Amino acid sequence: MAQKKKVAVIGAGVSGLVTAKTFKEKGHDVTVIERSHDLGGVWELSRSYPDVQTQSPKDLYRYTDKAMPDDYPEWPKGPQVHAYLDSYAADYNLRDLIRFNTSVLGMARRSDGAKGWTLSLQEEGGKPKDEDYDFVAVCTGQFSEKNILTHPGQEAFETQGGKVMHSSEYTDPSIVEGKDVTVLGFSKSATDIAVNAVKSGAKSVNIVYLQSVWRVPYFIGGLINFKRILYIRKQEQMFPSWGLNPMQKFAHVIAKPFVWANWRGLEALLSIQLKLKKTGLKPDIKIEDEINCSVPIVTPGLFDMIADGRIKAIKGTFKEYEGDSVVLTGGERVKTDIAIQAVGWKLGVPFLPDEYQEKLVEEDGQYRLYRIIANPDLPDMGFVGFNSSFCTVLCADLAANWLVRYADGKLDKQPTAAEMNNNIEMMLNWKRNEKPSAKVYGGLCVAPYHFKHFDELLDDMGAKKRHRNPIAENLAPPNADAYREFLNSTPDYKVS
Ligand SMILES: Cc1cc2nc3c(=O)[nH]c(=O)nc-3n(C[C@H](O)[C@H](O)[C@H](O)COP(=O)(O)OP(=O)(O)OC[C@H]3O[C@@H](n4cnc5c(N)ncnc54)[C@H](O)[C@@H]3O)c2cc1C
Repeated sequence: MAQKKKVAVIGAGVSGLVTAKTFKEKGHDVTVIERSHDLGGVWELSRSYPDVQTQSPKDLYRYTDKAMPDDYPEWPKGPQVHAYLDSYAADYNLRDLIRFNTSVLGMARRSDGAKGWTLSLQEEGGKPKDEDYDFVAVCTGQFSEKNILTHPGQEAFETQGGKVMHSSEYTDPSIVEGKDVTVLGFSKSATDIAVNAVKSGAKSVNIVYLQSVWRVPYFIGGLINFKRILYIRKQEQMFPSWGLNPMQKFAHVIAKPFVWANWRGLEALLSIQLKLKKTGLKPDIKIEDEINCSVPIVTPGLFDMIADGRIKAIKGTFKEYEGDSVVLTGGERVKTDIAIQAVGWKLGVPFLPDEYQEKLVEEDGQYRLYRIIANPDLPDMGFVGFNSSFCTVLCADLAANWLVRYADGKLDKQPTAAEMNNNIEMMLNWKRNEKPSAKVYGGLCVAPYHFKHFDELLDDMGAKKRHRNPIAENLAPPNADAYREFLNSTPDYKVS
């Protein structure tokens, strides 16, 4: 029988909450360590920029055992997601487990020879102190360490009244009223902020980007919710995946012309709908080579605003600040009062000791994680939510369920260290040589292979039920309620 463990869950976002709930349900003694004053991670209210909403439809951005409220819109707003997470925490009494305002500064293997880790924890305003845990679940996400860029001349720019901020600090739209705003970056947060700045009365809004990327509108062709096209198993199967046998590879060769036509059709449709030719923003890359976690959903109004000049999109990047302007690499000077850097976040687990960092991350930045959850050379720990996607809540739920069974030696297919390492090598090889777009975010992205990833996790867990009826399974998006049923069909156990 598996033994009860003292478990530390680091982070109280989407992933930390479901991990705490899942380990607690099996009987473990769980503590959640959260450096912020509230739960929610990226959805914590003081971190959210105005108008933020999910990219995923609400039935795809939910836990398997809790639907979002019926009166939520199809793409809930940030505060609604936060309220949903808060209510999930209330349902399972998770708040009592969370130590807020407490950061994990470091971790080391326990010196008493016992399994597990000693965490160095610091409460806000307090001194660091050590605590021992038998197992550590890292749920710190991909958006915890801001990527901050500095450019020559920034100090003088700020001294003369200019303001430079990270996108996550843009929480009060009134600051842009009557101002010249320059946004650096072309991700979803960059475009959300640019559109919001226009709506909030900015005098001018520029968006500076290196490369145009394909974006998906909430409704393709203005009519069809993108989940009905891009989230279905049949569409996913058009992408050659890892571990195919010769017959499957042959099937991909035969289907190639049809698949090619499918993607060209989608590109043509998007080009017309989003005015990509008119704005000069048609990407150079083929859409099927780009679909992964970095493909953003179109901020409503973005392309209209670019087309009519309310937002000026300029190719290039910041070179330096000069006086009251930003100078771009193309030489253009852009008068700026507020420069907003929407340049994302730094991936990493900064509190992990160097000798373990080397085991976790390859020189080219690719993560060594079996099923994007665990590494045999990092014992007594695992990662939840690192398997990011277009439906990260569901991914985190399944990963938490996998991880607790892995920690307890209760996976139906409990892998050996050699099996894990072989699989990690196979996946690294596939990403590096066959599917370079899968290397995005250190290889920590399961999109567009949601179904295949979920199939593997359920198979490892010994789920007796894994599929809906063939029509739903092939032609409808993943269904969180169905995944609850599949999880319920795995062998149950409790720790002693
Ligand atoms: C604006 C925005 C919109 C998004 N929309 C979608 C969407 O529609 N669909 C989708 O699938 N994904 C979306 N995402 C991705 C999103 O990150 C995930 O969906 C999910 O919220 C990640 O949750 P998480 O718990 O893994 O990480 P986070 O939400 O980042 O939570 C990590 C937590 O760990 C804490 N932490 C970090 N380091 C430490 C430390 N050293 N000590 C203690 N605590 C620590 C942080 O304070 C934070 O609370 C969006 C992201 C953003 C930023």
